[in-house]
Amino acid sequence: MTERSKETLTATVTRLHSKACFAVLDGEQAETRCVLSGRIFENLEGETKPVAVGDRVRLESDGTTLAVVEVFERRNCLRRPSVLREKTFQVIAANVDRMLVVASVRNPVLKPGLIDRFLVAAGIEEMGGVVCVNKVDLAETDKDRELLDRCQSVYDKCGYRFVPTCAHDGRGVTELKEILSEGITLIVGHSGVGKSTLLNAMDPRLSLATGDIGRKTRKGTHTTTSVRLMQLDSGGFVIDTPGIREFGISTIDTHHLGHYFPEIAAVLHGCRFPTCTHDHEPSCAVRQKVEAGEISAMRFASYLRILKSLK
Ligand code: GDP
Ligand code: ZN
Repeated sequence: MTERSKETLTATVTRLHSKACFAVLDGEQAETRCVLSGRIFENLEGETKPVAVGDRVRLESDGTTLAVVEVFERRNCLRRPSVLREKTFQVIAANVDRMLVVASVRNPVLKPGLIDRFLVAAGIEEMGGVVCVNKVDLAETDKDRELLDRCQSVYDKCGYRFVPTCAHDGRGVTELKEILSEGITLIVGHSGVGKSTLLNAMDPRLSLATGDIGRKTRKGTHTTTSVRLMQLDSGGFVIDTPGIREFGISTIDTHHLGHYFPEIAAVLHGCRFPTCTHDHEPSCAVRQKVEAGEISAMRFASYLRILKSLK
């Protein structure tokens, strides 16, 4: 028996590998290969695998091999139906603390509506939301700068951290590292906004493929891409996988949508009807706040667009 085996070993699962997994032991940096002990296969309850990326696990060592002997309760998990077997599902990632929504000033152009869609998805999955607008070096016109300023004040007011960045000259990168330095962050955002470039700027060791090369290799890998946690040298884990960039928010009821806009959630108790969807009902407290300028018209427009897509 090694020294290590006498302690209680806890770790975070970083990737799955057929009948084994890789994990980073608490306090360590490198990944270690672990086998899966038979007991964690009991009580699978429709899941295809007993462990998922992001799981907190207890390990035991027999001196040569580390085995996952217990999977701790998950705080949340992102799931999708399994493509392999009916009525089973796959946990894509567990215990994700926050979603980092990345957009860019240009190429592709900034559309706050897309950011809001991701933030709703984050809320549904019980994750915090952080907004990053990258490529601020491309904010050349007054219009670009006005939109950036408006986004800053709107998202600040709603309680989301808002970080303008430039992955090329490093603006905002330190602040982003600080926000991501604990827990697990899921990175989402449309292709080309600079997610991989930003991750490389935060930790050059990641050396992720960027630009056209990156996109080419990612194409068509939706169902086969394996999800992987990457540890930043400044702390925290990130997940960046194209296969989990699309989220269904189609599962929620129309009158629940308001709960995922913090500024709407804060006032909707004032509406006359408990099932108010805030688009046509009389005595709607939310519309009154929009008219009074207390709720951003930009955010309310996003709300209405998403509402329409749910109907
Ligand atoms: P991803 O698809 O979101 O991972 O985007 P990539 O990281 O592959 O970046 C897409 C393109 O945007 C690449 O050509 C990058 O060089 C470029 N890019 C990334 N960050 C910035 C930035 O801050 N400013 C500018 N001007 N270009 C950037
Ligand atoms: Zn209402």
